[in-house]
Amino acid sequence: MASTEIEVDVLAIAAHRDDVEQTCGGTLLRMASRGLRTGILDLTRGESGTRGSAEERAAEAAEAGRILGVSWRDALDLPDGAIANTYENRLKVAAVIRRLKPRVVILPYWEARHPDHAVCAPLGYEACFVAGLARVETSGAPLEKFKPHRPFKIVYASLYADVRPSFIVDITPYAEQRLQSLMAYKSQYSNQAQGGGLFVPEEEIRERTFAEARHYGLLAGVKYGEPFVQREVGLVDDLTLIPVQSI
Ligand SMILES: [Zn+2]
Repeated sequence: MASTEIEVDVLAIAAHRDDVEQTCGGTLLRMASRGLRTGILDLTRGESGTRGSAEERAAEAAEAGRILGVSWRDALDLPDGAIANTYENRLKVAAVIRRLKPRVVILPYWEARHPDHAVCAPLGYEACFVAGLARVETSGAPLEKFKPHRPFKIVYASLYADVRPSFIVDITPYAEQRLQSLMAYKSQYSNQAQGGGLFVPEEEIRERTFAEARHYGLLAGVKYGEPFVQREVGLVDDLTLIPVQSI
């Protein structure tokens, strides 16, 4: 699925394979259904996981990406469980941004229980900044071939953060398919004995993901939704067209 010459409209960056499926998979499906090209960059390859090898997870990630309709997916080799916001790592992410030229980048929200998730936000933001600097060379995308590029918009997927979202994306038609993309990680999520104490069974995951989607959907007056935070204010053209009923 990883190709060097493809460009995308929306790029979701996350720490681990299966993060995007949980936090913004429905949004990627919705964007793809609008004819936009989407991509996923996972920063790690999952070598520290309790279940499944990195190779198994690569195959599962490819299948999950197919279910989400993405045009591109790849994983960097940052250490699972120890992602750091270093200049070297920012350059690795910046090289991907220069190659793919996304208009929108989705990052995880900057406060999280898992340190890998939290650090992803500043690492991704600063990588977007570096990617636009004309004089900075990135080894993965030589300047003579890939021009500096800075995404127009950065939004933060906040599903697992205790924070009020700035907006909701209606994923009602895609909620089931999003769950199926998560279930593609059979080594992680199918009912099995190994590591059973750590992992919740499939039915529990279904109930949890749909309950979360319902909760966020209700905030916006739709059935199922995914929450996002943006740092900027919103801009309105016509007051009569603002969605989400007040009263
Ligand atoms: Zn994760």
